[in-house]
Amino acid sequence: MDEAAPQGAKPAAFLDRDGTLMEDTGYIGTPERIRILDGVPEALRMLGEAGFERVVVTNQSGVARGLFGEPDVERVHRQLRERLARHGVTLEAFYYCTHLEDCDCRKPLPGMARRAARERGLDLRRSVVFGDRAGDIAFADALGVPGILVNEFGTYAGPEPLFRARTLLEGVRFFLERVHA
Ligand SMILES: [Mg+2]
Ligand SMILES: [Zn+2]
Repeated sequence: MDEAAPQGAKPAAFLDRDGTLMEDTGYIGTPERIRILDGVPEALRMLGEAGFERVVVTNQSGVARGLFGEPDVERVHRQLRERLARHGVTLEAFYYCTHLEDCDCRKPLPGMARRAARERGLDLRRSVVFGDRAGDIAFADALGVPGILVNEFGTYAGPEPLFRARTLLEGVRFFLERVHA
């Protein structure tokens, strides 16, 4: 069982990065490759207004594979944050797993969300996961929270999500209107 959340704890919207917030072009190690997906700023704004902390949780095994280093991951995240700031929205936190195996943080393992909850005093039980892969939905299942699939192309094989959306915005609208309300 999770420890009880502190009084007044905020829920989190755990957001996958590649394929959910920005185009997934594979192992992204430079900010120049960031392409924010349509509707993402609006979706993040709605989550913030509904009282969610927006927490990115992303597997970046490109580090373990030697394709780029942690400073590159950090640079991409700083740039993503800056680009979103131009739209007037923010991401409260980034957690990333740099490993390929033998860790407790690579999704679908729930380590990144548990660490975020501990460090930021989040209410996990009222949280939600948005992601484009089976591993994201399995991550939601491991946490016992709703998993919303964001999948533009409709090819998906994995644990059944609570809802299949084409875009983050569609998924956020569904969640806020039909689940969180
Ligand atoms: Mg993804
Ligand atoms: Zn890890």
